[in-house]
Amino acid sequence: MRMLKHNLGYPRMGSRRQLKTACEQYWQGQIGRSELFLAAKRLQEEHWKIQQDAGMDLIPCNDFSFYDQVLDMSLLLGAVPERYAPVVTDVDSNAEIDLYFAMARGYQQHGLDITAMEMTKWFDTNYHYIVPEFTAQQQFRLFSNKVFNAFDAARHFTGTVPKPVLIGPVSYLLLGKEKGSGFHRIALLNRLLPVYIEVLQKLQAQGAVWVQLDEPFLATDLTEEEAAAYRTAYEEIARKCKGLKLIVATYFEGLKENTALAAGLPVCCLHIDLTRAPQQLEKVLQALPPKTSLSLGVVDGRNIWKNDYETSLAFLRKAVAALGEARVMIAPGCSLLHTPADLELETELDPEMRSWMAFARQKLQEVQELDAILQGNTALLEANRSAILSRRTSPRIHKQEVKQRTAAITDADATRQSPFPQRQAVQTARFRLPLFPTTTIGSFPQTDDIRQLRAQLRKGSITPEAYDEKIAEATVSAIRWQEEIGLDVLVHGEFERNDMVEYFGERLDGFAFTRNGWVQSYGSRCVKPPVIYGDVSRPADMTVKWTKYAQSQTQLPMKAMLTGPVTILQWSFVRDDQPRSVTTYQIALAIRDEVVALEKAGIGIIQIDEPAIREGLPLRKADREQYLQWAVRAFRVAASGVKDATQVHTHMCYSEFNDIIRHIAAMDADVITIETSRSQMELLEAFADFRYPNEIGPGVYDIHSPRVPTQAEMLALLQKAAERLPVRNLWVNPDCGLKTRKWPETKAALANMVDAAREARMAI
Ligand code: GLN
Ligand code: ZN
Repeated sequence: MRMLKHNLGYPRMGSRRQLKTACEQYWQGQIGRSELFLAAKRLQEEHWKIQQDAGMDLIPCNDFSFYDQVLDMSLLLGAVPERYAPVVTDVDSNAEIDLYFAMARGYQQHGLDITAMEMTKWFDTNYHYIVPEFTAQQQFRLFSNKVFNAFDAARHFTGTVPKPVLIGPVSYLLLGKEKGSGFHRIALLNRLLPVYIEVLQKLQAQGAVWVQLDEPFLATDLTEEEAAAYRTAYEEIARKCKGLKLIVATYFEGLKENTALAAGLPVCCLHIDLTRAPQQLEKVLQALPPKTSLSLGVVDGRNIWKNDYETSLAFLRKAVAALGEARVMIAPGCSLLHTPADLELETELDPEMRSWMAFARQKLQEVQELDAILQGNTALLEANRSAILSRRTSPRIHKQEVKQRTAAITDADATRQSPFPQRQAVQTARFRLPLFPTTTIGSFPQTDDIRQLRAQLRKGSITPEAYDEKIAEATVSAIRWQEEIGLDVLVHGEFERNDMVEYFGERLDGFAFTRNGWVQSYGSRCVKPPVIYGDVSRPADMTVKWTKYAQSQTQLPMKAMLTGPVTILQWSFVRDDQPRSVTTYQIALAIRDEVVALEKAGIGIIQIDEPAIREGLPLRKADREQYLQWAVRAFRVAASGVKDATQVHTHMCYSEFNDIIRHIAAMDADVITIETSRSQMELLEAFADFRYPNEIGPGVYDIHSPRVPTQAEMLALLQKAAERLPVRNLWVNPDCGLKTRKWPETKAALANMVDAAREARMAI
């Protein structure tokens, strides 16, 4: 009996983002339901074929989703919140898909106005899932037939028995959120389990042999109750679904103290992610009961690098020696959802660089090749060795001066010249800002003509000079109206930037860009992360020209706008050949040089955005302190090259500061702006309780809708803020993201905001 090869899930968007096109056309009424379904059928078939061609013994089905796999589960299990009841009667009976999209995106039709379900990040990825909502009275029932249809379709198309993929019951509950108090969602397990069992029995009756249940929470910190829920759930399932071969899949972290729990579950196979937690193999092998199989996730599903076969083979040989071939399976570490589709399409990528990479399709070929090598095909191993060696030694990757400079960073490099109170005094004297100074977070509306300009520049239909001229025009007019409405600290508007990470990546050495390297972020939205392949350095100024130009157009202070090192790291594909911290320090040094260059060019206020610091938090609590240490230090390295009189701002846009407030304070930015308007300033509690010492600008209006807030409501928020924090430390600004708004509402809202600040000054 040979090892089985399988895949946990395939990216569903399509190599040319066909699913995005189809969904968006359907939402706009440009195509009907049958065309949408046809597009989905074609994509699934194409992906099944790719997986079959790559020799997968078990082909996943139901990993395809129109929007999100967690939302699919909510529909399968009938966890449809009450507020969608009118949609069910509003759409015709065949239109489950419209109810589904209503849950994902809200429903504003036929006089109904129903909000969408909440969305949040899928573990430590940049994928967002739709959060299940549970009430204390929550009932579950078999509601959607998607998984059964997918099974039939995959079996028919592939001529094999496919492997349905579901999120396991405990993870499904833990992914959700309680609506109403007085209960914990894990207590709903008793009501949920019968429906899971019904689904599994139905699949079995249809002919399913293997079923994959994703339980990523097994690789996180669990409470006693949660661990107990795992035992209850899987014992019950094992009792009621005899003969079904269940794979419990874990990924993104190691099992650690949950090893015995996971290995002891009465299932056929346990999947572990060795790309994220290689050291767990030993303990898992020891803990595995005599009949249980082990699926080894050896190919990285979170990155774009070619697999190092030597490493993977060592894992596989070890497992085979311990368990025998029949009990070992090979797979990628996690679903390939988080990797781009096909490297073949990257025809413009430099061939050497390409030889170092693998996208989803190539990753499955790697699984196949690993198996072939174990069967004796050594030529494949040789080819892999030379690709790995080429990357390890390439002069394009390794720059001694960058490595030396990074290794030589001292505490002094990460410390401003004087402590904050002294800096504050110098800066107050320099800028002479009023109390409640007003500013914005950086970007202004990226209108269609600005976007088109960039497209034209890319196509070569306008010259760089003509492009610059138009950008300059947009910048100057933004400056003029900021002056008119009376803002105190201006921004240039970021019109020259496509994206806050890509813009810097394009100007730094060590970054590469793909043409089609799209990864699903949420729904039909995809991102194309840059690839950090080598030591990072800054060959020339990146933002000085535009910032200087903008400052030359006004007497008021112009705030420069940079993206911070952790955010650049977090929103890119990163090197896997050195610690993330080292890459981050390299980026930090490049940003530091830019900060110094801006100061030299006469810029007095510089903002370094770090919206992604929180999302970089490791999944395991025990690892968080260490991460925060280097993340904060990297920011400080970027910020500390300037004199006391230069004011460094930072910006963060999330709503949870309680557990990291100490580290946020340790960043020691002169001014931090945060997103608070939706929480009515409650978020400031963490800052107030901590007695946050530096200046702070809590967002006073939510930019997520076109609604123009009144001066009175913003004044009320400012008053609330003033009750919690010293008035001399308070700034007035909106939340971030004005780039997604239109001009009319932006101008009206900011004018009201400036009025609110004036009122607040008078009230003091
Ligand atoms: N300066 C950026 C902007 O205003 C910040 C965006 C962000 O933090 N996500 O768009
Ligand atoms: Zn933000």
